[in-house]
Amino acid sequence: MKPLLNRSNRTRLVAWFGAALLATSLTACGEQTTTPSDSPELSANAASLQAHLEFLASDALEGRDTGSAGHEIAAQYIAAQFKQLGLQPAGDDGTYYQRIQFRRSFLKENSATFSIDDGSEVVSLDYPKQFLTGPSVYSEKDEITAPLVFVGYGLVSDVFGIDDYAGLDVDGKIVVMLTGRPEELPSEEGAHLNSSKAKFAAERGAVGIITLHTPAREEVRPFEVSIMYQRAPTVRWLQPNGEPNVAYKNIAASAYVHHEAGAQLFRNAPQTLEDIFAQMEAGESPKGFDLGVTASLTRESRHEEISSPNVAAILPGSDPTLKDEYVLYTAHSDHIGITKDLSQDDHINNGAMDNASGVSVMLETARMFAEAETAPKRSILFVSVTAEERGLLGADYYAHNPTVPLSQIVANVNLDMPVLLYDFADVIAFGSTHSTLGDSVAQAAGEFGIELSEDPMPEQAIFTRSDHYPFVKKGVPAVFLMTGFTAKDEDQDGGQIWGEFFAEHYHQPSDQPSLPINYEAGVVFTNINYAIGQQVANTPERPRWLPESFFARLD
Ligand SMILES: [Zn+2]
Repeated sequence: MKPLLNRSNRTRLVAWFGAALLATSLTACGEQTTTPSDSPELSANAASLQAHLEFLASDALEGRDTGSAGHEIAAQYIAAQFKQLGLQPAGDDGTYYQRIQFRRSFLKENSATFSIDDGSEVVSLDYPKQFLTGPSVYSEKDEITAPLVFVGYGLVSDVFGIDDYAGLDVDGKIVVMLTGRPEELPSEEGAHLNSSKAKFAAERGAVGIITLHTPAREEVRPFEVSIMYQRAPTVRWLQPNGEPNVAYKNIAASAYVHHEAGAQLFRNAPQTLEDIFAQMEAGESPKGFDLGVTASLTRESRHEEISSPNVAAILPGSDPTLKDEYVLYTAHSDHIGITKDLSQDDHINNGAMDNASGVSVMLETARMFAEAETAPKRSILFVSVTAEERGLLGADYYAHNPTVPLSQIVANVNLDMPVLLYDFADVIAFGSTHSTLGDSVAQAAGEFGIELSEDPMPEQAIFTRSDHYPFVKKGVPAVFLMTGFTAKDEDQDGGQIWGEFFAEHYHQPSDQPSLPINYEAGVVFTNINYAIGQQVANTPERPRWLPESFFARLD
């Protein structure tokens, strides 16, 4: 799963899990069955799940980093499984592979500068203590000088009646915005709007974006932590013409400014930055204005090219008409590779739960569809996607370059980081409140005596953080299950086990096959995900967004 949290606030999350669990009074204990009702013989197989997982998460694959040899082997393994099951290739040129070219960009050492001219004095900010910037994925050298305009949070939404750009001219200028968003916005919708800030600025002609770190942000994620992550390269997929998939070429400068250094930008402003922070503290959304200063930003970037494949296969449907429509299963095959943290003895991030487990579940689901007595009415499309850990890139590439018509993909069932460490009694289905897929999930889970629980951590906005999201943005209803926080065994605390996994093993070398993996829980999880796909594939009406869902109205 794509990280949102950093180490410093994991402890807080674990504490939160404990509290949430006390507040939960789920007493799920429906009778346990492990086979879908309409095919009594058909069930996932624990030994198969284990075999897939142990191979994919083995040290030999070296953490499956995008573009690495280990990830290529993982992709070959998945393609071999698809072939063995008799699935049709759904990649490029009659193969199972959809090969993607990526550009990896690095900021050149000592190349970033930032100065502010207020008409009487030029002040320079220190990199990285006072400001941070990333590499440009588009150009090797950027030099921008332009007036600054403060735009509040930099958000625009008709639905929520927000326009932080109202009355402001930012054409050819650099916008200065606060990090984060107003607290009153619901978490998933807010996360989506938050991720659209560059779009709002670019559409209005801005040439640069400066984001202000705030005291509120400092408490959740200190500026120091952002400095630590500075060296990470930025990765983007390349279009067939070799251009990086950068939506907004006119944004040629960006910077993230420390909350104390930010005051320099407000030297000529009608309000001080302190006033602005006070308004935020009071729950108000600060209004924008011209800052009356000019900034100059420069940086140099180094680019290299790598390639990595998605792997795609189709099980053809049986209905003469509906077979042209697809239920899409996705699971990311990549992980974060070898750690550079030399303080640890084990350097391989095996990604057993993240996401060898999800791929194993998808491969078992594929086997079940392939071995079922009757093929589903709609076709089933299986895609293991790469570069999830670099920003959902493989899924995003597929959503932009689908190998079947995108409009014919009726639903996406995503599999990412099922924590298979306990006999879960409930599941959480992200996306289930946004489309009719929620009914399919409830029914499928119910077949196995598993409850459907509400999202216990809405502030994490997980619906926007895995591979289904690029498909959601293209209008495809999606659902993504995780194991719930209630264990069938009264002596086990599911929420605690989940929380401890997240705190101690998530994105660590210890997320490996030696964890006490409960493959029988994997069987139940697979059977539920199979049943969801089966139901969607066989129901005449295709899933649809609920009219009141914000995600039904994305452009
Ligand atoms: Zn991850």
